[in-house]
Amino acid sequence: MPPQPQQPGYEPGFDVVALSYATRLILSELDRELVVERALEALAEFTGSPCAALYLLDDSEERLVLEGCHGGPSELEPESHTWPLEGAARRVVDSKQVGRYGLELRQGLPWPVEDGGEQGCLAAPLVAADNRVIGLVACQMKEDRPLPPASALPLGILLTVTAVALETARLFQMAVRDSLTGLYVRRYFDHRLSEEEARLRRYGGVVSLVMADVDHFKRINDTHGHQQGDVVLREVARLMRQAVRKEVDVVCRYGGEEFVVLLPHTPITGAQVVAERIRRRVEEHYFPGEKVPLQVTVSLGVAAMDDTTLINGQDLVYRADQALYRAKEAGRNRVEVDW
Ligand code: GH3
Ligand code: MG
Ligand code: MG
Repeated sequence: MPPQPQQPGYEPGFDVVALSYATRLILSELDRELVVERALEALAEFTGSPCAALYLLDDSEERLVLEGCHGGPSELEPESHTWPLEGAARRVVDSKQVGRYGLELRQGLPWPVEDGGEQGCLAAPLVAADNRVIGLVACQMKEDRPLPPASALPLGILLTVTAVALETARLFQMAVRDSLTGLYVRRYFDHRLSEEEARLRRYGGVVSLVMADVDHFKRINDTHGHQQGDVVLREVARLMRQAVRKEVDVVCRYGGEEFVVLLPHTPITGAQVVAERIRRRVEEHYFPGEKVPLQVTVSLGVAAMDDTTLINGQDLVYRADQALYRAKEAGRNRVEVDW
């Protein structure tokens, strides 16, 4: 890592070891949030900026949406940081050139403006491999001084690497996420399950699975239409995601209206609690309907494997599915556990 901006005598510049380290960190990540976090950290270091923000163009390509910041306010709501692509920001995107602009702090975050004289904002486009601009980075600069020439090259490299990594992360998400619900697809689940199985064999531990199936879903489709059915699926998916540990548990759409949650390092009693939480939240939820809100229930099956009762991943799925079947048989809207 290069010396920190706070250190006396710090002069941002070209440190090839730090640059190599930063590019490796950025390119090895497939999660968009982490790519942004690592890229901003590196960009702030190389430019000596106390505060840097990264914005991406939305689908209309007329607005820039905040993706993350480094050194800015800690509480951020990206939706409230969406700005029209105009003025200096448009100039950066259209010209594909790094430039110094006036600084405006929008809700505490740097944003380039045409006037302002101080040139306190370094704004740089993010250009993807196909030469398309996907967004921009705005760095607040401490003083009215040009970027040292030695910083131009690492800055250019970091910007390219960031744009490529963001595109890769986007394509990866498209491949592993279901387009209706945003949950992981079954192929990704199978992959993660086999990884967990291998981990268990090598290091021991416990992994649980919760399978969920919407009750009488056919009726919802038949009575309210397929589109309404899709709304229900999206909402169930959201409730499930909110009911589990973010970044640890893997929630997938297993089939049409069947879902599965992989819970690493979780004993069966913990998975039972999660399943019950999902069941209750779905039962208590009012799903937006055309005329009146709808109420829906789910049935769930829970199973676990550990290094003492080692079964394989496919057996685990089978057991959770059998438990789910029992939940249906026993009247639906309930959790059954494969003890
Ligand atoms: P049970 O309580 O026994 O689970 O009854 P069910 O009606 O939910 O079960 P069944 O498996 O018979 O019905 C599942 C239905 O889900 C049938 C299918 O048309 C519907 N379905 C599958 N995928 C989608 C989808 O993507 N969108 C919508 N709207 N419906 C879907
Ligand atoms: Mg089903
Ligand atoms: Mg069903």
